[in-house]
Amino acid sequence: MTGLEHGAAWMKGRIIPIAEATLPITDWGLTHSDITYDVVPIWEGAFFRLPDYVARFEASMAACRLDIGMDRDAIIAALHAMVGAAGLQNAYCAMVASRGVPLIHGNRDPRHCANHFFAWVVPYVHVIKPDVIEAGASVWIAKDVRRIPADSVNPRAKNYHWGDFTAGLFEAKDAGFETTVLLDHAGNVTEGPGFNIFAVKDGRIVTPNAGVLGGITRQTVLEMCAELEIQTTERALPLEELMEADEIFLSSSGGGVLPITRVDARIFSNGVPGPIGSRLRTLYFDWVMRAEHRQPIGKP
Ligand SMILES: *Cc1c(COP(=O)(O)O)cnc(C)c1O
Repeated sequence: MTGLEHGAAWMKGRIIPIAEATLPITDWGLTHSDITYDVVPIWEGAFFRLPDYVARFEASMAACRLDIGMDRDAIIAALHAMVGAAGLQNAYCAMVASRGVPLIHGNRDPRHCANHFFAWVVPYVHVIKPDVIEAGASVWIAKDVRRIPADSVNPRAKNYHWGDFTAGLFEAKDAGFETTVLLDHAGNVTEGPGFNIFAVKDGRIVTPNAGVLGGITRQTVLEMCAELEIQTTERALPLEELMEADEIFLSSSGGGVLPITRVDARIFSNGVPGPIGSRLRTLYFDWVMRAEHRQPIGKP
């Protein structure tokens, strides 16, 4: 027992039990949600597509003008050291860049804060548990809240502006649904708390391209479809079209491909995970074991 088996954090170069990891209460990451992050999955002792996740994290930091003073190799070394110390084989590994505390009391200039990096790792998290997926998972289209517009908060930089998702989750849970998906102000489908969405119609797949995070799992789905010769299109997806689909599924680093059997009152694929979503779900778990996508823990 190392004290790290429930999770570990990397803070200021030290690896500590996750319960001991804390932030100053004046950190703008906390007071202003002025923070960006990424989450890479660890499967059977190796990171999946680590260079892609770290590249997205770097792009998010650049978009937010955050400078943590660490290069890509330093970030990767910190993650390996932390996950190796925790000894977790299947895990959820977060890397975070926060604006930090103002350098001078009363400062209101975002350029004058002590930006900093930290990371944490916990046992693997499924956004929807596998037994719920098997039994048929449900999505609630949020009615009283819309996705924050892309010209207000950049959805392509993974962020903590979860007010819209949290309101949608309250609606979903109160109505007895598993999770929620938000619409934009034009009535197009966007995404949900931690996942992208896909609609299958007549064997072809559509996924929203605007107002959403560029999910690495979404990218993996598009690549798997290319391998399977399934046609995919990235474009606006109106709610009416989603409701006419044959199959719906979600994609997330927290569980891979997640077939959905119900959206609001409408049942999809006869209430069981659909054939294309199920095939992609299985293939995703093959892809996470493919050597070219894996970086074993402790071997940066
Ligand atoms: C993390 C996240 C996703 C999914 O991205 P992955 O890289 O596939 O995990 C989708 N939407 C939002 C808002 C997210 O935070």
